[in-house]
Amino acid sequence: MSESLGKLRAALDEVDDAIVAALAKRQELVDRVMRSKRARTAPLRDVAREEAALARIVGRGRAAGLSDAYLTRLFREVMDHALRRQQEQLRDEQGVSETATVAYLGDPGSYSELAARKHFAARASGMQFTGCRAFPEILDAVASGRADFGLLPIENTTAGSINEAYDLLAATDLAIVGEEIYKVEHCLLAAGDVPVSHIRRIYSHTQALTQCSEFLRTLHDCQLESVASTATGAARLSAEQDLSHGAIASAEAAHHYGLHIIKRDISNHRENYTRFVIIATTPREVDPRIAAKTSLLLATRHEEGALLRCLNTLHEHRLNLTKLESRPRPNTPWEYLFYVDFEGTIADPNVQAALRELTAHASFQKVLGSYPARTTRDTLPASPRTPTAASPVVAPPPAPGSDESAAELRATLEKKPYKLVSRLSRATDSVVRVGAAEFGGARPVMIAGPCSVESRAQIFAAAQFVKDAGAAVLRGGCFKPRTSPYDFQGLGYEGVELLVEAGRAVGLPVVTEVLHPADVAKVAESVDLLQLGARNMQNFSLLKEIGRVDRPVLLKRGMSASIDEWLAAAEYILAHGNQQVILCERGIRTFETATRNTLDLTSIPVVRERTHLPVIVDPSHACGQRRWVTALARAALAAGAQGLMVEVHPDPAEALSDGPQALTFELFKEFMSAFGR
Ligand code: PEP
Ligand code: MN
Repeated sequence: MSESLGKLRAALDEVDDAIVAALAKRQELVDRVMRSKRARTAPLRDVAREEAALARIVGRGRAAGLSDAYLTRLFREVMDHALRRQQEQLRDEQGVSETATVAYLGDPGSYSELAARKHFAARASGMQFTGCRAFPEILDAVASGRADFGLLPIENTTAGSINEAYDLLAATDLAIVGEEIYKVEHCLLAAGDVPVSHIRRIYSHTQALTQCSEFLRTLHDCQLESVASTATGAARLSAEQDLSHGAIASAEAAHHYGLHIIKRDISNHRENYTRFVIIATTPREVDPRIAAKTSLLLATRHEEGALLRCLNTLHEHRLNLTKLESRPRPNTPWEYLFYVDFEGTIADPNVQAALRELTAHASFQKVLGSYPARTTRDTLPASPRTPTAASPVVAPPPAPGSDESAAELRATLEKKPYKLVSRLSRATDSVVRVGAAEFGGARPVMIAGPCSVESRAQIFAAAQFVKDAGAAVLRGGCFKPRTSPYDFQGLGYEGVELLVEAGRAVGLPVVTEVLHPADVAKVAESVDLLQLGARNMQNFSLLKEIGRVDRPVLLKRGMSASIDEWLAAAEYILAHGNQQVILCERGIRTFETATRNTLDLTSIPVVRERTHLPVIVDPSHACGQRRWVTALARAALAAGAQGLMVEVHPDPAEALSDGPQALTFELFKEFMSAFGR
């Protein structure tokens, strides 16, 4: 007999209660840790400790049948909460009331309210939140003391800066005391569970309508109406209860106004974040143990090179600039006010010295505030990491040995048709960043995954496995260049979606091949690295199109291309604007038929001598048989390759392409341990 649903639900409730009790206990411990840390001067956040703790947690989870990605996501949230709580405790010593009022834009359920609640979530629950009609009302509320804090949206990662907010900051005496980042996830809401095709009118904020333009274009006979905020649209829909109307707003707004979500995830860009600043009447000091940023308003003197001198001053004081925005100066045409954000706090004597020097080049200067940073490298979420055995270090490029051979090399390179990729244009190795991976850095980067994306289950299983084994990038072909038209051609855009989703789920950037110029811009929007395959190395239309996007590219060597032809192909990409090229040796055609291709290891030292671009090796396509892959990979690193790309499949016997060369999970684990991972 099956167990009763009621009993099971009661058991689930009990488990949930235990989770809540455990979280409360954890919070109490976090507070005690904070008290014991009080006297320490080290930074509050200890990333290495977070990485080790996450590694321990996912280890325990794995033994209990829980996925790494799931636990990592959950515990990142838990750790972020702990850090914020500790930060707040340090700041509370400055006497901010537990029952402060926060003014935000729009109605309850607006993104501003959600961001405000997120920002103050680490404090006690007595905070009050009050909605305002317009930006100036928020500033008034704070200036008059009706609110202790105000929240202003200042920029969005897809729509850009919010000019009105910047202009108000210039005019006010209020200080910036914090910042918050909120991920915008637009949904289409309706009064009932109706099909999307029934909707004839949609309410939302103009920005939200713009951010969902691609989805909205697919609707027929539907009017758009812009309203004060996304929550205002949801409120209106809820009042009307008209089943032919819809609103674009957050899932929380749907909940708040009792509406149905009829479609999720309708933004043009999946990664859509809004940055808010928190304002108050007086500046708040930031404890030096908290990673902080400072915002500055600056009008440069009307003289040549003034802006450059200002930026140089920051540079000389090693202050990392995180944002520079210009706005017209009121009533002075063609002069500008600059908003400058940099890492550091005004309590730091170095920052104070820099600010003093800046005044020499500025006609006006005002510090808007220092506050805990949420957007710098120091604030990126930790990943589970156990200290590993030393992994190999990339060999340096060949040294010329003597002045004569250096001169000879220079003379050779001067005659080459490529200039931008040439070592002559840059002596140091270029580093190409793909997510957290650095091609051209000190350690070789491993790319792994199946030849083709075949199904959700296949790519998710591969993603999880290669991530856990230590790969830094996930591969998966979606548009496949196949010799026979009757072979599997790839899942196309459906495959791209699956690949991106799988990568995101496990925290890996993804690479996929593009075959047609028309697909380049679109695929570049969602993947982290584009691949230009061996068969297309001299497809000049494709090279030019790839040169026009701001996305790293993996350029494979053509199977009968010389090294110089390969570098000239890279030159096409750089010449059209895109400077982020990684080269990939994958074997060339020779008289040898025992292997699929012949891995030209000779090319590695030659390429590293001729270009500053990073070069990696794909041993899988070179040899065509899984049992030879590891030997070639070792040789490639010994020759100076800056990374490897290998094919891995959960079940190679069933693979729809390149099964014989795909490593099984077990072989991939051995492969990675050969490189100290
Ligand atoms: C691939 O990486 O799956 C591929 C088709 O590679 P190449 O272009 O090197 O043959
Ligand atoms: Mn392949």
